[in-house]
Amino acid sequence: MEQVLSHLGLLDKLRGRGLQRRGPCPIHGGPNDSQPTFSAHLGKHIFQCFHAKCRAQGNALDLWAAIHKLPVYEAALHLAETFHLPRNRETTSNRMLHWALRTAKVKSRLLIPVIRFSAGF
Ligand SMILES: [Zn+2]
Repeated sequence: MEQVLSHLGLLDKLRGRGLQRRGPCPIHGGPNDSQPTFSAHLGKHIFQCFHAKCRAQGNALDLWAAIHKLPVYEAALHLAETFHLPRNRETTSNRMLHWALRTAKVKSRLLIPVIRFSAGF
């Protein structure tokens, strides 16, 4: 999450020193919007916007998709390319990976590294 926020130039715009950061929402907010409705947790690798009309939330991949206005699968490919994430070469015997595949919006096993990167494990 921190890498993604940093790459998007958002990390400096968020306030807070711990794992919880808050600031203007990069998804629904315009350049003049300074309401700190956006919250990201660097440890849990999740974000959420509390604005009633936005309510965007998810992990780093969801943020990437929302900001680039891409469907989640295309966003995953784009994220993999941007951060030089490899295509999957591991088996899914790992319980965390089984869980990730079940809960992720992207079901392709090829994109397991993206899912891992986005969920922070
Ligand atoms: Zn928002």
